[in-house]
Amino acid sequence: MKKQTLIATYCALSSHALFAAVDLRIDNATILNPIDKHQVEVISNHWLAIDNGKIIQISNIGAKPEASQVVDASGQYLIPGLTDSHVHLKTMPGLLASDPNAEKMQTAFLQRQGANYLYYGVTQVIDPSNTAAGMSKFAANGPAPDAYFCGAMPVYQGYNAQGLSYAKLHQHKPYFAAQHNDPVNELTPSQVQAHQDAQPLTRMKSDGATCAKLYFEDGFGENSQLPLIRQADAKRLVDSAASLHLPVMAHANAVDMQQLAVEANINIMAHGLWNWLTPNTNKVANALPPKVKAVLDSIVEQDIAYQATLNVMHSLAKVTDNTFEFSPEYHNVLPLSQIDWYKSEAGRWFSREMNQGWGTLSNQQKVARLEHVFHQGQQALRYLHKHGATLLLGSDTPPAPTYASQPGLSTYLELTMMHQAGVDLVSLLSAATINNANAFALEHRYGSVAEGKVANLLLLNSNPLESVSAYNNIDSIILTGSHIERSALHINALNHK
Ligand SMILES: [Zn+2]
Repeated sequence: MKKQTLIATYCALSSHALFAAVDLRIDNATILNPIDKHQVEVISNHWLAIDNGKIIQISNIGAKPEASQVVDASGQYLIPGLTDSHVHLKTMPGLLASDPNAEKMQTAFLQRQGANYLYYGVTQVIDPSNTAAGMSKFAANGPAPDAYFCGAMPVYQGYNAQGLSYAKLHQHKPYFAAQHNDPVNELTPSQVQAHQDAQPLTRMKSDGATCAKLYFEDGFGENSQLPLIRQADAKRLVDSAASLHLPVMAHANAVDMQQLAVEANINIMAHGLWNWLTPNTNKVANALPPKVKAVLDSIVEQDIAYQATLNVMHSLAKVTDNTFEFSPEYHNVLPLSQIDWYKSEAGRWFSREMNQGWGTLSNQQKVARLEHVFHQGQQALRYLHKHGATLLLGSDTPPAPTYASQPGLSTYLELTMMHQAGVDLVSLLSAATINNANAFALEHRYGSVAEGKVANLLLLNSNPLESVSAYNNIDSIILTGSHIERSALHINALNHK
């Protein structure tokens, strides 16, 4: 009797295994599969089967697998979910810590942040300065994109560590890089040891980091007051990171700083080259100053992946502009109450800060100055694209406490601004998918529509190889195999007041 029951159970299990339905099948989509930075394969008349969060089959054979859910995607375009490889997930854009409602606003922000990214088709994000605990916190507010982090390696009193005591630096920047004249007496010998040589890299790797970030920043504009990492140390860290298979991102946006980053052999430039330090005296149309051209040529030669982060200067110009209005797009990701706060005296604090220290310039003139720097960034991007550089979609959201930069929306704006700067639509799709996967060694999971990869996909109502606006014409998002209608991720559907 017992034996019979066992056999019966076994048969039931095996027949289930043989004829099990897959979780999801997508029929009739035109599949756009990025191959490399210059090629996207177009696949018609295929269906795609997804099970346990992964793509398990892409085929045109007549015998389709049974599926628990079938999506007829006739007339739609299937692409990999986008990766935004430069986002800061910790704090609400423009939050004023002293506001009586700061905590409430921050909590509400964390609850909607993941959905905001998904609404604009971003299914993977990389935060260049975070920790494993930060990633868990982000994921806990699901639904959310798959999130990865880099270990930030500032130096004592350097950029991204200004004003932090040595003890606080150890606490808040767990992977900082030690330098010669650090006040080591503030830490225990083992704490000091934890920041020597390759120690922070080994530690971040075992903590699950996807990359390391170095800072080449001596101060913005003409300033040069911030201590830099010693160049010999930067080079050694890049070598150590390579042996740990950790790509190194570099914060740098001025020509002298990007030159240092290039010389240190970094893998990913985390910003566009928009600060040329001197006015362009080159009178030939669209020609670049020789120093700028030299750095950009090295970026191409060394195949350093490049995040133009056009969103940075764009959103700084917007927050400075006294005539800035929240366009309808902002109402997709922000509740009305939040927009009202941003418009209030308290909410405009960073706008006032951006408007200080310009002498007698009018508001219009200030904005024009920022836009000029933005155009230099566009010009640098156009040059790199023309010369075959590897481009990455990375929006740097938010780059500063500016309300003009919002999760997901800024990623979409970054795509449109890259396209405006001259990046063609094939290269743009690759920058948002396969290039990011390759640059961060995540190509076994993401970046293309292929069997075995994570089923993070988008169904678009129009063709992204015909118009950039297709990235804002999303029908649905497939997140680790779950099909989510875009409308379910709109702020109005999220139950936020
Ligand atoms: Zn950043």
